[in-house]
Amino acid sequence: MVTPTASDAGNNTIGWQFENTYARLPELLFSPVSPASVREPRISILNHRLADELGLDLTALSPEAAAALFAGQDLPGGSQPIAQAYAGHQYGGFTMLGDGRAILLGEHRTPSGRLVDIQFKGSGRTRFSRGGDGRAALGPMLREYVISEAMAALGIPTTRSLAVVTTGEPVYRETIRRGAILTRVAASHIRVGTFEYAARRDEATLRALADYTIARHYPELSEVPQKYLEFFREVTNRQASLVARWQLVGFIHGVMNTDNVAISGETIDYGPCAFMNAYSPKTVFSSIDHAGRYAYGNQPNIVQWNLARFAETLLPLLDPEPEKAVAVATEILEDFPAVFERYWLAGMRMKLGLQTDEAGDVDLIRSLLDWMEKSKADFTNTFRDLADGKLPTGDQDPDFQAWYSRWQERLGREGQSEAYAIMRTVNPAVIPRNQRVEEALSAAEDRDDLSVLHRLLAALASPYEARAELAEYREPPSHESNYRTFCGT
Ligand code: AMP
Ligand code: MG
Repeated sequence: MVTPTASDAGNNTIGWQFENTYARLPELLFSPVSPASVREPRISILNHRLADELGLDLTALSPEAAAALFAGQDLPGGSQPIAQAYAGHQYGGFTMLGDGRAILLGEHRTPSGRLVDIQFKGSGRTRFSRGGDGRAALGPMLREYVISEAMAALGIPTTRSLAVVTTGEPVYRETIRRGAILTRVAASHIRVGTFEYAARRDEATLRALADYTIARHYPELSEVPQKYLEFFREVTNRQASLVARWQLVGFIHGVMNTDNVAISGETIDYGPCAFMNAYSPKTVFSSIDHAGRYAYGNQPNIVQWNLARFAETLLPLLDPEPEKAVAVATEILEDFPAVFERYWLAGMRMKLGLQTDEAGDVDLIRSLLDWMEKSKADFTNTFRDLADGKLPTGDQDPDFQAWYSRWQERLGREGQSEAYAIMRTVNPAVIPRNQRVEEALSAAEDRDDLSVLHRLLAALASPYEARAELAEYREPPSHESNYRTFCGT
């Protein structure tokens, strides 16, 4: 195997500013690794807008140089590739994991001073690959690209996608597929699972990880008394805010294992996720989630469950007396439903244009959701129609009409004219509809036609604009009772 090295294309001519802060943590937390050499790297898609935000000038690169760079054949100067160690609770059961098919190049300092992880996904085996091949297929990497970029455009904290390259090599799944590598950009890849791993090693490693994470994501807490407890409180707060944002747009993550919970508060892991169409709390798309553990309506409960696993890792840092540590952590954990509810309610009020608080609001919201569930109303389009001053499908139903009068009366009491304008800033017109995503991925994977994907990405880039020419992207699928998504593809 040729060991990739830095050369002109990958080095600082495009503006990389690598720091390797994670690689200075205790060695137990990672393992040095080189991306595998690949036969014939070719750019599938480059995110020029994100590159600009990161201070990277990709226009300086030839297509061949860009392909070599994002296939890990030509490493950026200053990068120091590692695979990160982590563990995790998957569907409730504890497992040792780690980056089995991801390689962290290091942290890039953006022109605005932000530090972001640059990570390849699908670039070969690592110490943590177990039986896996360390590779990824084109379709799933493009899927992550589309949905993560859609989430970013919706304003929801998320990892980003900078590039997808094909490797020119096959990957063997149920069928033979085209190999690909995704370049993921994240505030960091530190997960609840990273803490679960460290806590099972030794306290010095755990403390080093906690101090590093606080300095990186919660620097305002570095000097406060009881900083680890405050850290737990803030992580809880960010997770409550994040899952509320998911609920408010109908996003179903699909695999909320603790290794897929980022301590930064970003959405991470776009394997089996999908957006809900007809409103139902029971909605599940993941092919393996038979019990509905990660169903739409269960997401907040699961976040709390995951935070309990996180709290357990922090106990030795919270108090030398175990019972006291448990007591202080439990207090924060038990507050989670109330914190979530506050974020959710604030978001729901905006979705209905309510700018003041009234005691009856929760009931008003619930009764709309009840009607939507009963009539299988499309989640996105119902709210967007209301925002556009239109009656949604199913408006002849007397239950809807009763609700609508109540809502209009409620809006009347607001005495504000901006209600609809506010609603249009939070109720997306365009989401990544499952059938649209699939059609774009098939065109790319089967026919090497990226044009369908580019059109979809353009529609998703301004999700709150209901432009007439985007009408086709707003239609729910005609039938999707058997739409299924997959993990670890
Ligand atoms: P995920 O379902 O993507 O959250 O992955 C769970 C674990 O499986 C992580 O530790 C991944 O690194 C690992 N994994 C997934 N796919 C592969 C693969 N093709 N080769 C090696 N490890 C993998
Ligand atoms: Mg994962």
